[in-house]
Amino acid sequence: MEFREMEKKWQGVWEKGGAYNPKDEGGEKQFYTAAFPYPNSPQHIGHGRTYTILDIHARYARLKGKNVLLPMAFHVTGTPILAMAKKIREKDEELLRIFRDIYGIPEEKLAELGDPKKLVMYFSGEIEEGMKEMGYSIDWRRKFYTFDRYFSKFIQWQMKKLHELGYITQGNHRLAWCPSCGNVVSSHDTKGDVDPEIEEVTAVKFGLGGGEFLVVSTYRPETVYGVTNLWVSPKSKIVRVKTKEGVLYFGKDAWEAVSLQMEGEVLGEIDGSVLAGKKAMTPLGRGVPVLPASFVDPSAGTGIVMSVPAHAPYDYLALRDLDKLEELPPIPLLSFPGATEIPAKGIIDKLGVEGQGDVKAEIATKELYKKEAHKGKMTIGEFEGMPVLEAKERVAEKLATENKAFTIYVVANGPVVCRCGTRIAVKRVENQWFINYGDEEWKIKAKECLAEMSLIPEKTRKDYLRTVDWLKKKACTRSSGLGTPFPFDESKIVEPLSDSTIYMAFYTIAHELSGMSPEELTEEFFDYVFLGKGDKDVHPEAEKLRKIFLYWYPLDARHSGADLVRNHLPFFIFNHAAVFPKAQWPKSIIVNGFVLMEGKKMSKSLGNILPLREAIRKYGADVVRFSVVGGADLPQDTNFETSIAEGVKERAEYMLSLSKYRKAGDGSRAGKWLRSRLNRKLRDAQLLYSGMQIRELGQMLFYETVQELQWYIKRSETPALGEFLEKWCIAFSPFMPHLAEEIWSGCEKDGLAVEQKYPGPEYGAIDDAVEMGEKLILGVLGDVENIEKRFGKKASRIYIYAAAPWKREIYREMREKKDMRAGIEWAKANRVEDMGAASKFAKSLLKKVHSLPAVLGEEEELGALEDAKAFISRETGAEVVIGREGGAEHEKAAAAAPGKPAIILE
Ligand SMILES: [Zn+2]
Repeated sequence: MEFREMEKKWQGVWEKGGAYNPKDEGGEKQFYTAAFPYPNSPQHIGHGRTYTILDIHARYARLKGKNVLLPMAFHVTGTPILAMAKKIREKDEELLRIFRDIYGIPEEKLAELGDPKKLVMYFSGEIEEGMKEMGYSIDWRRKFYTFDRYFSKFIQWQMKKLHELGYITQGNHRLAWCPSCGNVVSSHDTKGDVDPEIEEVTAVKFGLGGGEFLVVSTYRPETVYGVTNLWVSPKSKIVRVKTKEGVLYFGKDAWEAVSLQMEGEVLGEIDGSVLAGKKAMTPLGRGVPVLPASFVDPSAGTGIVMSVPAHAPYDYLALRDLDKLEELPPIPLLSFPGATEIPAKGIIDKLGVEGQGDVKAEIATKELYKKEAHKGKMTIGEFEGMPVLEAKERVAEKLATENKAFTIYVVANGPVVCRCGTRIAVKRVENQWFINYGDEEWKIKAKECLAEMSLIPEKTRKDYLRTVDWLKKKACTRSSGLGTPFPFDESKIVEPLSDSTIYMAFYTIAHELSGMSPEELTEEFFDYVFLGKGDKDVHPEAEKLRKIFLYWYPLDARHSGADLVRNHLPFFIFNHAAVFPKAQWPKSIIVNGFVLMEGKKMSKSLGNILPLREAIRKYGADVVRFSVVGGADLPQDTNFETSIAEGVKERAEYMLSLSKYRKAGDGSRAGKWLRSRLNRKLRDAQLLYSGMQIRELGQMLFYETVQELQWYIKRSETPALGEFLEKWCIAFSPFMPHLAEEIWSGCEKDGLAVEQKYPGPEYGAIDDAVEMGEKLILGVLGDVENIEKRFGKKASRIYIYAAAPWKREIYREMREKKDMRAGIEWAKANRVEDMGAASKFAKSLLKKVHSLPAVLGEEEELGALEDAKAFISRETGAEVVIGREGGAEHEKAAAAAPGKPAIILE
């Protein structure tokens, strides 16, 4: 059967019956969500993992009789959609190629996507279709976009609540900034979702006389004591700038970045070569020459570099190449245990660095820096004897108070690039609005919320705690982009990580708002609906919506990719703890790892992206669902491989092919075994589902099940799978809901599979002895095959001898006491005839004495073997003789062990 056709059929049935649109009342509820997708491109299979896990969770809760809400919306806030539309308008080759060749978007459609709204509608439509094709049990009645005016009213209400609590502040700050977009940026706006980290650097002034200074930025201000000269690239452009610090010289590019942080008037521009040969005064009052150096990168730092040859291998090598070491001797300023007099020379000699171009120069630099920073002590100046790390701070302070240096801010993890392609800089932004996650009382509340939450995996708790501690003020507005106007300054937009923190509350009532106008959604209205504050007569719908909200809230589980543990998820906790009373705080967070493609990270540059909808067309949704979740535990990355997906598909087809065995009742031993296996799985799966142990569930309910059914059908003379299929398809339906529906309807049962309750295990059917017996038979067949292989001929007669009772006693003693001597002592005490054989047998068990499995008694073992005698004969084409070790005609019968009969072939 064509999977896609079958799946479409059931999706139609579900949609028609509103199978996933829960009532807003009655019964025990569960409310689960995952991040709303950002529709600036179609989804690939990597996106499918979190949503599939979420859907499995929701479907299992329904099997357990819960009324489950799983809503979805679209996040369009911020600049990425605008940036994408702009790139399309500008006909960005790379992007158009990806959309055309990988995602198969038709040319005429692509032309329209330069319009941001059309882009949103197109990609959100694609994503919605993909989610429906995946069979996700979503209530689409609640869908919204974050630029909806209804949603904006909600976000404005949220900002007002935070403001009332004193968590919204305003001030002047240095922030990561895109000069092209003219906007504050965070991870959401950058290529590769990198969060720019801002770091302070000391800008040291070297006097040229007349109130003019060369500016050198450094992470090691303490090394001003050892400066012998400055370097400047003769080809670089240098600007003279009038600032409150005096007239400063910067590399031109460097000034462009620094000008975002300090005011200045550019007086003129000169070539670097003009500076070469001049003398500059260090802050300590020593004159040093400015030397031309082509190795200086004009865009790094300020474009002018100080030379400290005693401690910087590159400077030492450069001076040595210029033959200037005698004229400008290195000035050591610190030392550490084991250091030579000139540490840079010491490490250059030790590593045999040949010159500036030698890769070892970089190693030398890193190694020396590490030693000096961690073990170094100052040897000159007023901080003599002080550890370097401390001296560094003190020198920076001293220079700043003496007006000989100032602070500039850089992107420490740069270069970070905006989605528009421009490199991120640091800007001093005036009157910026913040959400103050640094507020100590708020942090305590957030931790309280966290303390009562269950987290999967639990080990993520320390990451959340660390982030809660570490978070400070977060800029919450942007000057451009899509989204909600900030209520206290409507020229600004609420940024995307601030309007995605408590929106789950909005889902609860989103479907009930269509009859209202956005203007009706006042602060008082939301106060009543979400907080129960004020009067129910604020709006005729208010009381009804309050009830619906209280029915669904709190959120029972938030599903997420593990990459959001350090930003979105802590914000989600903070904001819930601030806005809502304890009773509405979220209950749990479940995170998962990424999906790799054939072992590699999916990326545009590798060209190994598999669009979700293409994967569905190729394999069917159930196969894709299983393939993106079944291979790994939640926190691990999982690997999508074509060969694995093909294997999953084959097994799914096998399960569908079993309808011909749809009979009731197989009273044979094999039938009992299958019932035992089924009921054991039904019992164990409940535990695994509650712990979201997806990989183990997949192994047990799918791979293992297929294997066991193949065995059973071979083994039983009257295979009957009616009961098995009926129950199995329901228990496994969270993974493959379409397959479940098809099998269920094939069993001619009433109603839909997705409406059924979890099939409770019949504990009485779980039979350890029968299962051990089948395992024994499987082992015997394996042994026969191995022996035949070794001797290269088929047997005509097979003797199978069950181990003697005394061996079972020794085995039992050793298994219970986990000790070999216990077995030998038993043999002595019970006068086993052949003590040599007894101790030999005990020794044979020694290696696994701590993990001996339970085994059957002699009679039970013989019973299992007798039952399978005809089967073994059929399988091997040989006559089968079954006997006891005691009194056997073959000497080799002595090799028999409990659970592993001796096998002799003739
Ligand atoms: Zn930009």
